[in-house]
Amino acid sequence: MTTSYRRWVHQNILREDPAPILSESILQRIWFESLVRNPLQTLSGESLTLRQPGFWNHRAGPDFLRCSFLAGDGSIFTGDVEIHRHSSDWDAHQHSTNPAYRNVVLHVFWQVDPSTSPAPSPQIRPIAIEHQLAAPLTELIPLFRATPAEISGGEKPGRCHLTLLALSTDQLRDFLEEAGWHRLRQRRALASARSSAHGFDQAVWVALAEGLGFSENREPFTSLAHAVPIFQLLQLPHRMDREAILYGVAGLLPDPTRASVSPRALPLLKELWDRWWPQRETWNDRTLPPACWKMGSTRPNNSPLRRLAALSFISDPILWTSLTQSIQKGESNAFLEILKTVKHRFWDQHAGWDGRILSSPSRLVGLDRSTALLFQVLAPLTLLPEDELNRRMQDWPVGGDAGLLRSASIRLLSVPFPPPDVRSHLAREGLLQIYRDFCRTETDACQSCSMPNFLAQR
Ligand code: SF4
Repeated sequence: MTTSYRRWVHQNILREDPAPILSESILQRIWFESLVRNPLQTLSGESLTLRQPGFWNHRAGPDFLRCSFLAGDGSIFTGDVEIHRHSSDWDAHQHSTNPAYRNVVLHVFWQVDPSTSPAPSPQIRPIAIEHQLAAPLTELIPLFRATPAEISGGEKPGRCHLTLLALSTDQLRDFLEEAGWHRLRQRRALASARSSAHGFDQAVWVALAEGLGFSENREPFTSLAHAVPIFQLLQLPHRMDREAILYGVAGLLPDPTRASVSPRALPLLKELWDRWWPQRETWNDRTLPPACWKMGSTRPNNSPLRRLAALSFISDPILWTSLTQSIQKGESNAFLEILKTVKHRFWDQHAGWDGRILSSPSRLVGLDRSTALLFQVLAPLTLLPEDELNRRMQDWPVGGDAGLLRSASIRLLSVPFPPPDVRSHLAREGLLQIYRDFCRTETDACQSCSMPNFLAQR
């Protein structure tokens, strides 16, 4: 019997018992996504409602900064969060003597070690999340093992590329599409976990924000989508109010009286600032630090400021209804047509508040990004059954070959893009999935990789 891609990954990449591979980074990702039951229970039985999980700190110090929650007595607290596998890790890492941890208010861990005291100090509330997840851990682990951003670039052909190229076109496409299905099912599992934790509309909102963030700014866009839920924006009929809140909470709205702003951008910036200023206190505990955005490494067309304008346009209540309906019904053409209408009088032609003009006016969500969103948003969240989705996906446009896909293609097929005959939407995603599952960050991944055995068995 042929071994399926899914079974091989589970047998060779994942182990049966999730606990040994439950790393702190997976727990951090679960926290970042707020895939926990809300309200949470502390070890002392207090009920805490999470308003904002905090901003992921990838440097020294606590894992999340400026978390905000509603305490049992109704008061709002803000402070940092430290995440561990065990309650005893706080002492083991000697955080009590480190001043960087003095603002920690929540110590979140997977489970309590019976032999240790779980509360390092009276102002730090301990929370064990083992029984407080929004989805089963076995479903969350494979989703969060490694993000494409963690996978290094600079590829060269790997050990199995000759075997893959020796397959017939049909065999290669079947193999890649099987891996593509594996990737899609993982996305559907994540979408379903988000839907059950935060509702369908919010799951769409987070997936859209994530997709518009590209790999460079995926994390702050996801934080922003959690900080400003779609249901709050839909209650604001004026588009400038929605825009002001998104730019303001993103921390990307400079004070027009202080920042060096182009005269071309000034009227827009002033209007947004005037709408943001009176309500900034309300959002204070959710506002992102500007430093979390990667501005310099993106192409001007992909500037987060332009992507934010797109997100704000999409939050229009009428357009949102059409978009979510197209997703539920799996109507790719309607979905792409709606994304085509996304525009902005300033950001269509500019890349920054300094007034940098693009070489030519450019769509806020171009064709490549729109087709990527089909797979990132529509396919995971549609209500269509799998076989119908599969049938419809055959007609979807495939999109470009930039970035990670090029690295995956070079590694696995020794060419910068897959051959034309295997260029289906699912095959493209399958290539990315194999790259993610097997050709990981280790420089010598090929030496210990089980993929050649898997191919030989097939
Ligand atoms: S790491 Fe594995 S799957 Fe990737 S190229 Fe090497 S042998 Fe192939």
